[in-house]
Amino acid sequence: MMFASIAQARPNIIFIFADDLGYGDVGAYGATDIRTPHIDRLAAEGMRFTDFYAASNTCSPSRAALLTGRYPLRSGVNAVLFHDTMEGLPPEELTIAEVLYAAGYNTAMVGKWHLGHLPQFMPLNQGFEEFFGVPYSNDEKNFFVYDGEQRIAEAVDQQWLIKRYTERALEYIRRKADSEQPFFLYLAHNAPHVPLYPSPDFQGKSQRGIYGDVVEELDWSVGQILQALEQHDIDHNTLVVFSSDNGAWLAMRDHGGSNGVLRDGKMSAFEGGQRVPTLARWPGQIPAGEVYTEMANMMDWLPTFAALAQQPLPTDLEIDGVDITAVLRGEGEHPPGPFFYFQLRPPKLAGLEHKLAGVRDNHMKLKLPREGFYPAFLEPLMKVGLYGHDLLLFDLQQDPGEQHNLASKNRGEVERLQNLINEFERNVKPGKPVEVSAAPEDQKGWENMWQGIVLTAALVLLSVILLLYAVVKLLANYLGKNRS
Ligand code: MG
Repeated sequence: MMFASIAQARPNIIFIFADDLGYGDVGAYGATDIRTPHIDRLAAEGMRFTDFYAASNTCSPSRAALLTGRYPLRSGVNAVLFHDTMEGLPPEELTIAEVLYAAGYNTAMVGKWHLGHLPQFMPLNQGFEEFFGVPYSNDEKNFFVYDGEQRIAEAVDQQWLIKRYTERALEYIRRKADSEQPFFLYLAHNAPHVPLYPSPDFQGKSQRGIYGDVVEELDWSVGQILQALEQHDIDHNTLVVFSSDNGAWLAMRDHGGSNGVLRDGKMSAFEGGQRVPTLARWPGQIPAGEVYTEMANMMDWLPTFAALAQQPLPTDLEIDGVDITAVLRGEGEHPPGPFFYFQLRPPKLAGLEHKLAGVRDNHMKLKLPREGFYPAFLEPLMKVGLYGHDLLLFDLQQDPGEQHNLASKNRGEVERLQNLINEFERNVKPGKPVEVSAAPEDQKGWENMWQGIVLTAALVLLSVILLLYAVVKLLANYLGKNRS
């Protein structure tokens, strides 16, 4: 009996993840040209975070940090994985799914994994009992939907992806609603990452073009989930979290989203790259309409979910997040402490590099100098956030758009924050970086072929020149003889 009441107190957990959804793409965060009534409902009936950080400004490292509760450099997932990457999140890393499964939860994942596509790295080997989704981003070659370990044979038409994921999630909720065990459902959409594929029902419906159409379909999906929780009468016992893996991808122009007032976007350690819309709803447990304005981050979910599941974590594991159940219940504050930013460079251009880029403590942010790929004045043309800059200090409370550099005015604060970075670098042991690139292709055969073609062409050209020379010479001789 005792056990039953404890078990009932443990909520189902549904974590809905958008891909590249920006801070300015949701009504509850100020968007006026995209309708998101269902996501906004999470804010009205739950908690909206204004300063919630993804642990990276790109997909794979952000997801690694969410699932492990650790900065990505600890697991070594420092860069975006591709369809031909042969490595992934190390299987020995402890994931949220493994923690909750050990606590007696049913666990399922629907959607985008992006932490290694070989079997040993896939969700079924990281604590998920069920998997329906894709191993990587939707702009990759070899795009296949998996059901468990099986690839679904028919060609994937991406315009049905949000609907298929939603149907699968609803089916799972239906199947587990009456179970004695709580469940954890990780629903990670590929949207609104480019390329964009709204289904016909949503095409041309938003005021923000095709990008807005996709976000409105994503919002529809959230509505379906909330409706299912009510239908199955598990609304009161289910925590729903909605978030995004990184900021909007500004380089995609009207095919990328908006980060509102925040500077830059995906791939940048300015706020637009990492501060993401995040909402949590649990009727009766999270106060309705609450806005939380202190820092929290993606690595907090693992210890939080473990606490809700009453599952102790290994004491020797270095976890960077903290349990925020008191924050969620409106009964406490996030423990103070710095948050560290990392700058990722595109691996195909610059090799693996995921360096400490800055720190935020309270509302002050220090951003380390960057060499960058191009000078800052070109950024309005580029919009990829990889330009060079000096040491920057911002007061994010006064200046959320990071426009006014206070570094020269406030040397004391610069030094204090620099010390936090130094201390972090001294104490954190990085994992072996995941090798993102597949073995380089053997190009020797093609080189041989081109050598042959060039040599033949040169010989032909030389022969033609010699022949022409001979003809001209003969002609000149002939004409000369005739004249004399
Ligand atoms: Mg992403």
